[in-house]
Amino acid sequence: MSDPRGRKDRGRRWLLSPTIAGGIALIVYFALLLVTTWVAQERLSHSTSARHALDARLHANALSYFYAERLGDLANLRRDQAVQSFFVNRDLGMSMKYGLHASLVSIRGVLIERVGEKRVDAGPFFDRIALFDADGTILVDTSADPPAAESWLALDSGLPSHVRLVVDAPQHPDAILVEAPVVMSERGRGTLVAWVNERTALAALVGLDPAGSGLDRYRLLRSAAEVAEIEGAVGAPIEVSGTPFFLVGLERASLDERLLTSRWFLFALVLLAVALLTGGWMLLGAQRQNLVLQTRMDVARLQRRKLSEHNERLREEIKKRQEYERRLIYQANYDSLTGLPNRTLAMDRLEQSLMIAAREDHRVLVFYLDLDHFKRVNDSLGHAAGDEALVQTAERVSKLVSAGDTLARLAADEFLVIYPDLRDPVDAAERAQALLGLFTAAFTIEGRELFLTASLGIAISPSDGKSAEDLLKNADLAMKEAKDAGRARYSFYIPGLDVQIRERLSMANLLRHAAERGELALLYQPLIDLRTGRVVAAEALLRWTSEELGAVAPDLLVPVAEDAGLIQHIGGWVLERACCAAARWQSIAPCRVAVNVSSLQLQAPESFSEQVDLALSRSGLSAGLLELEITEGVLLRDRPTIGTLLANLDRRGIRLSLDDFGTGYSALSYLRRFPFHVLKIDRTFIAGIPDNQEDAELTRAIIAMAQALGLGVLAEGVERTEQRDFLVEQGCDLAQGYLFSRPIDADALGVMLGRNGEVNRS
Ligand code: C2E
Ligand code: MG
Ligand code: MG
Repeated sequence: MSDPRGRKDRGRRWLLSPTIAGGIALIVYFALLLVTTWVAQERLSHSTSARHALDARLHANALSYFYAERLGDLANLRRDQAVQSFFVNRDLGMSMKYGLHASLVSIRGVLIERVGEKRVDAGPFFDRIALFDADGTILVDTSADPPAAESWLALDSGLPSHVRLVVDAPQHPDAILVEAPVVMSERGRGTLVAWVNERTALAALVGLDPAGSGLDRYRLLRSAAEVAEIEGAVGAPIEVSGTPFFLVGLERASLDERLLTSRWFLFALVLLAVALLTGGWMLLGAQRQNLVLQTRMDVARLQRRKLSEHNERLREEIKKRQEYERRLIYQANYDSLTGLPNRTLAMDRLEQSLMIAAREDHRVLVFYLDLDHFKRVNDSLGHAAGDEALVQTAERVSKLVSAGDTLARLAADEFLVIYPDLRDPVDAAERAQALLGLFTAAFTIEGRELFLTASLGIAISPSDGKSAEDLLKNADLAMKEAKDAGRARYSFYIPGLDVQIRERLSMANLLRHAAERGELALLYQPLIDLRTGRVVAAEALLRWTSEELGAVAPDLLVPVAEDAGLIQHIGGWVLERACCAAARWQSIAPCRVAVNVSSLQLQAPESFSEQVDLALSRSGLSAGLLELEITEGVLLRDRPTIGTLLANLDRRGIRLSLDDFGTGYSALSYLRRFPFHVLKIDRTFIAGIPDNQEDAELTRAIIAMAQALGLGVLAEGVERTEQRDFLVEQGCDLAQGYLFSRPIDADALGVMLGRNGEVNRS
């Protein structure tokens, strides 16, 4: 048995594990993403600053070079021939009027040329170049509009004469100037001063547009102290060598860089990750809830279905049980075949009826009914036909049973009728007669017409018994008496009947030892050929002279032997005795012997065949001299074994005759189907001929039919000459009867054969 809870847990684990794994994978993914981004940001930020620092360093170098160049420009300019010539000429005393002025014009031309020549695309390196005299006055100026009263302090002879940058000139505090003293003969004669176009230079050197805002990326400071005042300075200020300047980079990172390195970017990523994880988690939760809900619904549905199936099974079980109990009650009290009360219920009702009868002082009438030769119906037609006969019997009898009376089936073919209120004992005989009258009409069973009779035993309380058991037992005894008296009749119980019956019951026991005690004998009745009047065969007839019972007729003896299971044994004895007698006769005259065979003997075909073989071999009689007489009932069963048996016997040359034809089913079909040689017309038909028209007609018809079928025909019970004459006239082949001879012993028959087979015909 599997555990549903365990299965459910396993199912849930199975459902959740991918979810948890997925969640963990997502978290790890986002954590990695964040760490990677943070590290990348750090790296980017570092590399950006490094790049900026490198840029600044390069630009500082470029500026240093630029200013060195500009110092070189001025140094070259002060050595220019025009400048030198001017001061030499003035020292020589040349007046302004004669040559000095021209010299100055020449110097100005050189200066202007230099201003115009030293430039980049964005503009000139120098805004202006002026030559100051040693006294500070302006000698030459490239500016068309120089400021008034401008002067440049004359240099002392002690002052250094090297070219230098001046950033703190009193009259030009914001300008960057290149000062180049003109020294001749170790005496300062004047000073060349150039105004550096700082913006153009800076722009050209750092590759920025001088008009644009790109200049904001760097700032040139006059001293390191100014750095602190600059907002957004990146890195340390870089000294521009050869100048007093410091170059400082301002934060001008690109938008991408700023975005990528921004902490907000990281924060936004974290937020996104959290949002995604939360969303995913909620989705999974919803999914899981759906799954859980779905699973619960499935489980509930399954449980409901199982419950309803269980209930259904329970209901069916209860129904079956009720039905079973009902059947049990029914079976306990009713007969399943006919639906009549059974023995138990019948006894119960009988007891009640007897109690009431005793109280109210009236009689209870009981009929014990038994079908005659019912066993034959079963044996010959089969049990289904037997059952049908019982059902029809029950239906017929119930017509005579009114409300308050009881009809019950006690056993196989035994019925009980209880009339609980019998007013007049005379009524009993009338009712019995009426009941037997129900059997005059033929029964139709499986399409065949069948005549059944019944024997009835009558007992009346209180004289025949006060208790139910006594009354039933005595009715049963009365029924047996009716049977013994010839069947198809009723008998009243008379005191002492049980003793007689008991005696008869012991007949079977006596019969069991009759053969050994030599009480059995065979008589032989000759069968006469009507054309010649000679004996051609003899029928062996069994006789029992019991020491206790006296002579017992075979009509009584054979059914007892059949009931007691003795018929095979006795039949074997008869066969052997008859064959031996016949074998003896053959030395006198040829004569067949006819042996009667009970249907029960044929039901065991193998042992019967063995008995026949044994009888023939022991007696030495040839098979052609043995004739077996079979009654029709046995053939109705259509058993292939019987057909085979008869065919075998026929093949071996044994003759078969159909005994007592006309008393049973008289079916013609089996006359053709089975290999009979002779048909024996029952003596009840012969008794009436020739006077009784009906018997005469029937006998005539049977003879004609037998002839038409190629069968020999024999008439039984021929007692009178008219009967013989009639039979001879009809062409009947054979006859037997007291007219020719009564059954006689074997020796007497031998004597008869010795007389040329002629019987004593009176
Ligand atoms: P069944 O085979 O029809 O035998 C003929 C019976 O008719 C014999 O009666 C015989 O005595 C009697 N019978 C013969 N001629 C006349 C007659 O002119 N008038 C009258 N009223 N009766 C005549 P039985 O010997 O009493 O035998 C009666 C039946 O018992 C036989 O009828 C046969 O069916 C049976 N039976 C006799 N012996 C045996 C036997 O050894 N084995 C078996 N299975 N049945 C036997
Ligand atoms: Mg016979
Ligand atoms: Mg007969």
